[in-house]
Amino acid sequence: MKKKYKILPIFIPFSGCSNRCVYCNQTVITGITDTEIINSATVQLKKWRERSESWDELAFYGGTFTKLPLKTREALYKLAAGIPIRISTCPDDLPPDFIDEINNFNIKTVEFGVQSLSDSVLKLNGRTYTAAQAVDTINSIANSVDISLQFMVGMYGETRGELTYTANNIPLSHPSGTLPPGGGDTTNMARIYPTLVLKDTTLERLYREGRYQPLTPAETLLRATWLYLALELSGYKVIRMGLPPEAQGDSVVAGYWHPSFGDIVRKFALQRTSGIDTIEQLRERYNEGDLWFTEKSNIDLANELTGASNLR
Ligand code: SF4
Repeated sequence: MKKKYKILPIFIPFSGCSNRCVYCNQTVITGITDTEIINSATVQLKKWRERSESWDELAFYGGTFTKLPLKTREALYKLAAGIPIRISTCPDDLPPDFIDEINNFNIKTVEFGVQSLSDSVLKLNGRTYTAAQAVDTINSIANSVDISLQFMVGMYGETRGELTYTANNIPLSHPSGTLPPGGGDTTNMARIYPTLVLKDTTLERLYREGRYQPLTPAETLLRATWLYLALELSGYKVIRMGLPPEAQGDSVVAGYWHPSFGDIVRKFALQRTSGIDTIEQLRERYNEGDLWFTEKSNIDLANELTGASNLR
């Protein structure tokens, strides 16, 4: 049996973030409140190490890693003590000589929170880059490291058109357009998160003021599956869909959450796309997205799989 790939997660909530995105509350997602990040990371690491397991990567999640001061980045790299490193960050400007940093400090994977390729959606949600900047940044290091892209569905201001635009413009997994991709020995990866209204966020205020309405469960599934197919057909392995169980309970004000969201998406994709092998065929078959969202059989299956009814 194939050995499970193990990532040791260290959370550095909001560290390096130059602003607060409207949907984000890392504190409720991660449960970490210590703002002294080296101390917090050391304490978290100690707890994991007590389990005496071996790890394939040590990941720094929950902030904008590349916008931390160099001194802080170096202190965090040191904590990994030989374990290959994964970082999570925004796809805007990277620090100078970042490729040297990748090589010198054993960074194996860079996760970019792209979220959308619609400039208006990015701006409305408080993201600090344009779609073109994101693609340039990703391509600038894609030959040197494994890449993981994070996308969201149902963001504030997102229409079906913007979601299909994002799906249709995903940069190929390797900048040269060939597969498999560059730097590492694994396929480039992706994650998809349906937008949830978390407490104490700007999105919660917009929701309470009636200016943001979460997608219905069926619409969430339709959009996520379209994006999933586009990512897989562009050469990415989608490794996670949906927020983990920690993001449940009191912290979620509204939005669709299901513990097996990824399985539901894969089931839907399997049943609705036989014979589709390329992104061009996907676009052709579903007329750039229109039919995908309005065809009765798609809507009925989406309602059935999400347990919803009368939701269009
Ligand atoms: S989404 Fe990312 S960049 Fe935005 S506030 Fe949260 S951690 Fe920072």
